[in-house]
Amino acid sequence: MTKNGHEAALAEKRRTIALAGNPNSGKTTLYNVMTGTRQHVGNYPGVTVERKEGEARLGDRTFSLLDLPGTYSLSARSEEEIVARNVLIEEQPDAVVAVVDASNLERNLYLAVQLAELGVPLVMALNMWDMLEAKGLTVDRERMSLLTGAPVTATVGNTGRGVREAFALAADVAEGRRPATLRQVDYGNEIEPHLQQLQKRIETMPALRRRARWFALKTLEGDPETHRRIEKLCPETAAALFADAEGHRKHIEQVYQEPIAAQLADRRYGFIAGICAETVSQTGIARISRSEQVDRIVLNRWLGLPIFAALMYAVFHMTFTLAEPLMQGMEALFSLLGDRVGALWAPGSDSLLRSLLVDGVIAGVGGVLVFLPTILLLFLAIAMLEDSGYMARAAFIMDRFMHAIGLHGKSFIPMLLGFGCTVPAIMGTRTLESRRDRLTTILVLPLMSCGARLPIYALFIPAFFPERWQASVLWGLYVTGIVLAVLGAKLLRSTALKGESVPFVMELPPYRLPTLRSMLIHMWERAGYFLRKAGTLILSVSVILWALSTWPRLPETAETAFANERARIEAETPDGPEREALLQELEYMTAQAALDYSAVGRIGRAITPAFRPLGFDWRVSTALIGAFAAKEVFVAQLGIVYSMGETDEESVTLRDRLKNDYSALQALAIMLFCLISMPCIATVAVTRREAGAWKWAALQLFGLTILAWIVTALFYQIGSRLLG
Ligand code: GDP
Ligand code: MG
Repeated sequence: MTKNGHEAALAEKRRTIALAGNPNSGKTTLYNVMTGTRQHVGNYPGVTVERKEGEARLGDRTFSLLDLPGTYSLSARSEEEIVARNVLIEEQPDAVVAVVDASNLERNLYLAVQLAELGVPLVMALNMWDMLEAKGLTVDRERMSLLTGAPVTATVGNTGRGVREAFALAADVAEGRRPATLRQVDYGNEIEPHLQQLQKRIETMPALRRRARWFALKTLEGDPETHRRIEKLCPETAAALFADAEGHRKHIEQVYQEPIAAQLADRRYGFIAGICAETVSQTGIARISRSEQVDRIVLNRWLGLPIFAALMYAVFHMTFTLAEPLMQGMEALFSLLGDRVGALWAPGSDSLLRSLLVDGVIAGVGGVLVFLPTILLLFLAIAMLEDSGYMARAAFIMDRFMHAIGLHGKSFIPMLLGFGCTVPAIMGTRTLESRRDRLTTILVLPLMSCGARLPIYALFIPAFFPERWQASVLWGLYVTGIVLAVLGAKLLRSTALKGESVPFVMELPPYRLPTLRSMLIHMWERAGYFLRKAGTLILSVSVILWALSTWPRLPETAETAFANERARIEAETPDGPEREALLQELEYMTAQAALDYSAVGRIGRAITPAFRPLGFDWRVSTALIGAFAAKEVFVAQLGIVYSMGETDEESVTLRDRLKNDYSALQALAIMLFCLISMPCIATVAVTRREAGAWKWAALQLFGLTILAWIVTALFYQIGSRLLG
């Protein structure tokens, strides 16, 4: 058949429009308005469920209309649900009108959301509009249409109001004149990655490809009806797919100790609650649930942001107060370990192995591990906020706030993930559909202060600030990061990444009491990453940095000079405290000279001029290079540099030494720079991969580093003028 002939044949074929909806939503009423008397009633083949099919005229076009059995969901628990599902999959109607009882919106949208998951060409008719108005409510249909991706219109079945308009829309959809992308429920950080893996796998199976997301969801649920269908369509690959899906399901169910179907339903209702919160406005007094009562306060236009800020403050305060004694314990433990290991050698020995273990491994890795308690506590608190449903509210609040400056709050969800680690957060931006939104979010994400920066803060804050200031300083750093991220995003969206932003539904999952189990699992998932990193990346970088601080060694002439000086002191000064002090001073100078002569000292001196306006000395400047490998290395590196320059056998904690060398203003400048400056190597690599081009990774790397330099220089210069 020629192309034109084919098109003509298609045009002749009568299009089918199906009506789907809950029982008593008014499907049959709408159907009767459209078909009048031109209808046939019978049973579906093989089952006694009523099948009503008729003819509808719209202007000069004729359509076949199909009234599906009424169902609350597409879960295949009843014959009606199975029939409705099979018709939608097998007969492939050209458009589906979801008849939604608008006076019972949340429950009715549940089916509509599943229709979107099935990927049918959808139109939503908000029927019983009169009942909705009688309740003193209204729905912003345009906004709902943006949020769901389906046309939304109001109908009153028994008076016929809006019905022909609704079917005109459906006719447009059926004839392909209204291409639309339906928005999907985001199943969250726990489920979504599993779902997407399954979806990818299913996309390689030709017979299932078209409805990959639907089949992924159903196999994840272990839906028997779907299993039968897949076994028929792909007899060879079905078993392996089911085994894979079962693995994913077991993992998810283990985390929450709840059947997967219930978890999926929760997320769908969260999606719906989000849609309703944004589109339904009430004028009358309605009965509201406890969750809605809480949301009235938590999501309040004026209170929402202060509550979010106060909660964050409370979390930091708690983290510091509880972690302080634990952290001191860890410090004591590692300095004891350092002393013990060091004591295996004779005093004054210059064994390389001893130096490697004490000054390299223990000072470096130990210096980072000291902060494990702080990190565990903070992650536990974040897991609690997430599992209770509050984090989703935080995103909702930020949504409003970010709308005000032309952005979207959905981007804030990966940003919240960024508090843990930037790398998974960047991968989390895959849920953003618009490439511009995605790139913008990826580029500013490193400004969300990740867990690896925490050791740096935990090192400096307690060293320089009295207890009552500690939480505020940390809070200030996090807020500075968020504010810079928002401003940076705004800048990008109005320059390099200009364009319309895509609307999203902000899910509002029900509040629930987090279980200790799921909180601990989530805490461990993150802390485990931190520990593995300490054992691998940070260990190897510490060894490299140690080597760079050891070689090249002082030339022999210098060694001899120091030895001669020593002999001179011993000869000229009588035995006693004065001689001790002189010798100690000399030893300190020797150690400093050796460090100065080493590769680290040279690199440090070479780059220090660039950092002088920021108030950094050569130690801090070199430590910044290590931080590029991983942010924690900054702490490891300071630990090594100070440990190498150390002379007395009794170790002083790193915090005490820093207190001698820097001012509180310098400490703030250092933390500020670490917050903003260059993302770590892993972030650069994942940005390159997710953004698809080196130029974005380079923009992020250099943009943030330059920004950090400017902000810190301004901060330090203004600060020292004001103080000095
Ligand atoms: P079905 O189960 O989805 O087929 O629902 P029906 O079409 O049988 O309708 C259920 C009831 O709702 C009937 O009594 C209808 O008259 C009534 N109904 C249908 N549409 C509307 C509407 O828009 N407003 C009001 N007030 N009643 C309606
Ligand atoms: Mg009916």
